[in-house]
Amino acid sequence: MIPGPIEVDPSVLRAMGEVTTSHVAPNFIESFGNSIELMRKIWMAPNGQPFIVAGSGTLAMDMAVCNLLESGDSALVISTGYFGERYKNILATYGANVTVLQAEIGEIVPLEKIEKELASKDYKLLTITHVDTSTGVLNDPEPIAKLAKIHNTLTILDGVCATAGEITKQDDWGIDIVLTGSQKAIGVPPGLALLVASKKAMKVWKNRKTPVQNYYGSFNNWLPIMEAYEERKPSYFGTPPVNLIRALEVSLALIDKEGIENRVSSHIHYAKAFRKAIQKIGLQLVPKRNEIAANTMSAIYYPDGVDGNQFRKDIGEYGVILAGGLHAEIKAKYFRVGHMGAITKSDIVATLSAIEYALQKQNYNFNFGESVGSFLKEI
Ligand SMILES: *Cc1c(COP(=O)(O)O)cnc(C)c1O
Repeated sequence: MIPGPIEVDPSVLRAMGEVTTSHVAPNFIESFGNSIELMRKIWMAPNGQPFIVAGSGTLAMDMAVCNLLESGDSALVISTGYFGERYKNILATYGANVTVLQAEIGEIVPLEKIEKELASKDYKLLTITHVDTSTGVLNDPEPIAKLAKIHNTLTILDGVCATAGEITKQDDWGIDIVLTGSQKAIGVPPGLALLVASKKAMKVWKNRKTPVQNYYGSFNNWLPIMEAYEERKPSYFGTPPVNLIRALEVSLALIDKEGIENRVSSHIHYAKAFRKAIQKIGLQLVPKRNEIAANTMSAIYYPDGVDGNQFRKDIGEYGVILAGGLHAEIKAKYFRVGHMGAITKSDIVATLSAIEYALQKQNYNFNFGESVGSFLKEI
């Protein structure tokens, strides 16, 4: 129950175990082409250009920047935690003038602040973390993208802990790049960087004045490959991880069969019931308001007097695996629970039971059974 890698559907795991075919075998070309087409549906980006490249989510973050940004451009990071910091570092690597708008821990950056900053300077692009996995804070990308459009600033959405678990309407919202990694809400083992670029993003990349300062991540190398697979033709730049891409096809097809809107609704439904259960026994979320709490994961403070290391150890003994803190300033004060992808009601019930078990072992004062009862009533 950690926020990635997540538990994957058994059919996705079985796909990983199929015979490793050639990257130019007709069955694999079909899987790759189909995955590209399915990504457009799940990203709600009928006009977007998908990219599927071996690497982690950070490679997708890197590719978005190295292809759009040129040295000396100004970039704005709207940071809600650890992964905003990472974007700052990536942008600086490519010579950007970076400004960071840092939210307080558990908060978002107010829209007025973003508007003021965009009006103050000619920003080439801005980055938003859809769900920051270090704080469990959910951003609403739509109004930010609208502001960016007014100021002719490109938008990059880090959806690594969100895409396929939080609603993402890339075309409608006018987001230039939405990126993720395979191991979060997409529901595949780790190893794939996934991103979809808008028509405008592709135009900006094509019209660059300076070459892309990255070899492996350059669209120059990958666009012909994506186009070839979509046309169901063989091609080669770097050997694709064939087993992972077959697993991706299976997982994307599962999400598409359920319907992306249904998939997101069920994440919202579970997350709401989970938060309510947690709050019922007196625990506090890191996000300061329920409206900005993620639906894919939760970040939760330990109550006063509860030892975090012992708490997680007891939970482990109970058979549930949770994650510790990630945000440097509050690292020892909270824990994180992933509730995205193929998780079931029973998984959440087991998690709440484990939390209650570990809390009562440390004599935390609460009504034993109340979080589980609350969840079962809500669900
Ligand atoms: C996990 C995560 C990343 C990094 O992905 P890796 O696959 O670990 O490189 C980036 N951004 C967010 C929001 C994440 O949750």
